[in-house]
Amino acid sequence: MMRIHRYYDVDVVNGPGTRCTLFVAGCEHQCRGCYNQSTWRLDSGTPFTLEMEERLIADLQDTRIRRQGLSLSGGDPLHPHNVPCIRRLVKRVRSACPDKDIWLWTGYQRAELNCAQREVLTYIDVLIDGRFIEAEKDATLLWRGSRNQIIWDLRQERIERAI
Ligand code: SF4
Repeated sequence: MMRIHRYYDVDVVNGPGTRCTLFVAGCEHQCRGCYNQSTWRLDSGTPFTLEMEERLIADLQDTRIRRQGLSLSGGDPLHPHNVPCIRRLVKRVRSACPDKDIWLWTGYQRAELNCAQREVLTYIDVLIDGRFIEAEKDATLLWRGSRNQIIWDLRQERIERAI
């Protein structure tokens, strides 16, 4: 079962607009200067239960505080151990909350993702990839910590592919 460190039901820092944000446990990249070392271990944090998943969906559908979308960070949501649970979650959010956008941060480079990890990309809108590299750190960057990381707008790619 996937484990998580933090869940913010109302978040305005991790991605555009007002969002729900989940920080998952487990990361094998060991970047120097990582802002979140406590999330590296797969057995850290608390289990991501079905009850939590239900709450997350309800929060995204909440009309009193409108959320723009869901942010998935960590740790690494695309750690192989987390992929089955993340895939199920994004698939469900995509169908239950079609008007919400899904952003996902991973330490892997997009080009090195395996089949199962790439399948997750078919359900999300924006991917920010790559390890955090201290020498390329730039505090002026939006949504990423170092210049090597790339923001992939997968919606735009899908539109371009359809043309
Ligand atoms: S990918 Fe992110 S969580 Fe993992 S070690 Fe690097 S900075 Fe830390």
